[in-house]
Amino acid sequence: MSNINSAKFDIREYLRLDRFPHFLCPGCGHGMALRALLWAVEEKGIDKDKLAVVSGIGCAGRLSAYIDANTFHVTHGRPLAFATGLALARPDLNVVVITGDGDCLAIGGNHLIHACRRNLNMLCLMLNNEVYGMTGGQVSPTTGKTRTTTTTPLGNAEPTFDSCALAAAAGAGLVGREVTLQVPPLKNLIKEGLEYHGFSFIEVISDCTEVFGRKNDLGSSPEMMLRQKSDLRPSSYGNKVDEPFRPNTLPTGVLSRHDRAEYRDAIEAHAKVVKAVNKTSVQGIDESN
Ligand code: SF4
Repeated sequence: MSNINSAKFDIREYLRLDRFPHFLCPGCGHGMALRALLWAVEEKGIDKDKLAVVSGIGCAGRLSAYIDANTFHVTHGRPLAFATGLALARPDLNVVVITGDGDCLAIGGNHLIHACRRNLNMLCLMLNNEVYGMTGGQVSPTTGKTRTTTTTPLGNAEPTFDSCALAAAAGAGLVGREVTLQVPPLKNLIKEGLEYHGFSFIEVISDCTEVFGRKNDLGSSPEMMLRQKSDLRPSSYGNKVDEPFRPNTLPTGVLSRHDRAEYRDAIEAHAKVVKAVNKTSVQGIDESN
């Protein structure tokens, strides 16, 4: 069924084809993530004029340049800050942030936790490729323990962030994870994120074949993709790198949902209460006079 729907979907209608050829390396997962996003946009029937995509710096951040919609390519780690202003000023827009693990969890980590806390209506799509790809393959907050990068030539000694657990703990309304190996489920998860009235955070496991896979002898792009749902991924949240291979154990789909007031709604409700209290106080002063 999903193949039939996929055949109807023509991604070229959502791309700035004059920007092609794109910059992605052969086998990079980010193209599949972009396809899933635009496919979800089409199935949701979102008008391109009502779609605003904000992205930061890095390979994931470059994707906004190819999307034929309202796009903002902003400073490193700050797409959530820009998107916050945009979503506050233009609630009529569908605001989507595309960010990478370094952009979102390191340089922009502070913005992420506060975006989750506020629960402002937007979708944050974090493409986790376990490395700073664009700048040459430096270690990132999701690089697995023992993995080799240009800045950890002897192997990474740091534990990794579980970005979904972080987002849920910080208060994100909807949190999910999917892999680029499963594009239709990824598209469906993104649709849920777009539908959710509040802050939705989706981590996409998206392989960097070039500066991460090659450096760690992880094989070809298909070989890397087949390991995406293994709990032996270095970002396997617990760093079980010495345990036997256990495929299909990385949790995917909607991982947590915490329905509560969306930020603008909460502010408006709060403003009404303050106004009512002030009115009562003024009346009280008038009457006492
Ligand atoms: S460096 Fe890695 S993440 Fe960046 S485009 Fe190439 S494969 Fe993709």
